Amino acid sequence: MSPEFKIPLEIEQYERKIYDLKQLIEISKGLNSQLEYNVLIDSILLTCMGHMQLFKAGIFLKKGIEHEVYTLHRNYKGFELDHLREYEISPDSELIEYLEKNNRCFSLEELNAALPEDPSLDTINIVAPMLVVPLMGKGKLNGIIVLGERINGEEFREDEKEYLLNIASLAGIAIRNAYLFEMATTDMMTKLKIHHFFQASLAEMRERSLHGKTPLSLIMLDIDHFKNFNDTYGHTCGDLVLIRVARIVMDSVRQVDVAARYGGEEFAVVLSGTDSGEAKTAAERIRREVEKSRVVCGRRELGVTISLGVTEFRPEEDTDNRSFIERADRALYMSKNDGRNRVTVL
Ligand code: GH3
Ligand code: MG
Ligand code: MG
Repeated sequence: MSPEFKIPLEIEQYERKIYDLKQLIEISKGLNSQLEYNVLIDSILLTCMGHMQLFKAGIFLKKGIEHEVYTLHRNYKGFELDHLREYEISPDSELIEYLEKNNRCFSLEELNAALPEDPSLDTINIVAPMLVVPLMGKGKLNGIIVLGERINGEEFREDEKEYLLNIASLAGIAIRNAYLFEMATTDMMTKLKIHHFFQASLAEMRERSLHGKTPLSLIMLDIDHFKNFNDTYGHTCGDLVLIRVARIVMDSVRQVDVAARYGGEEFAVVLSGTDSGEAKTAAERIRREVEKSRVVCGRRELGVTISLGVTEFRPEEDTDNRSFIERADRALYMSKNDGRNRVTVL
């Protein structure tokens, strides 16, 4: 080949490489600015789908610190699977060891040929991806990305597989960061956000409400006569009551709201874009759900109630978190004084 032809071809290849690297930087920025776990998973899957022109993508991850098993995250796209079923891969399986040893992409056929005896391949075979991409971080397998067929029906090229491995390693770092953030801001017993996170979110949401001129409300709630549960049935029962109330609070609010353990057996919920009337309705719903619930402790079924205080953000008055929280707290103590198991709006 004459030099006149060789140079433009090389330039084209370099340009392609530079373009790919720029794309990777963009992907990295996008993934690392996202600490919210579910949104991050979506970003990773949509990035793979967009760049590779795919119909289907999913990811197997460990569910949390107390889980070792890799489970297909429920945000998978395109695969026609049973939504009620958990698709799991054992951490002790040959498949995991094989992916850890050979950090590269595999087709389903390649894996079946390499590991004919491994029962954990059954899970992968049910999902039936075209390509399996390991998500490595610090020499350990953090997860497995599974990708379905391409829109143009083509096979994956070698350079595309390499590109996917790069995306996977960026995704691995982002997932680890989001996981650590989640751990550091979550109260382990109740799974609600910790006090410090609540204060920081409240400050941020006040700013947003101020500039966007949207309403913002706060609910403070406290378990009634909680000391009696501890004193009569023991701290373990007390803890179960706390966990149950926290679960009801969490299930009653939207993803954009922040539900936190304010301290001891007192909780706080910040509701964005919500005025005091709507917040009162939300508070009533939580109160009713708690009243209806029964906490099973040993052979006993315990009834539990809560008192709540609701207030809306007043930009002129609430120049810091404190005055906003104090008003909600005052409303809560009015509920206590008026006989408990009720909502007061101030
Ligand atoms: P009131 O209806 O007025 O709120 O009465 P109360 O008994 O709920 O209020 P009080 O503040 O006197 O009691 C709160 C108790 O909560 C005291 C504390 O020992 C207990 N507590 C705080 N954190 C925990 C926890 O994590 N687990 C358990 N089991 N108890 C806790
Ligand atoms: Mg209490
Ligand atoms: Mg209390």
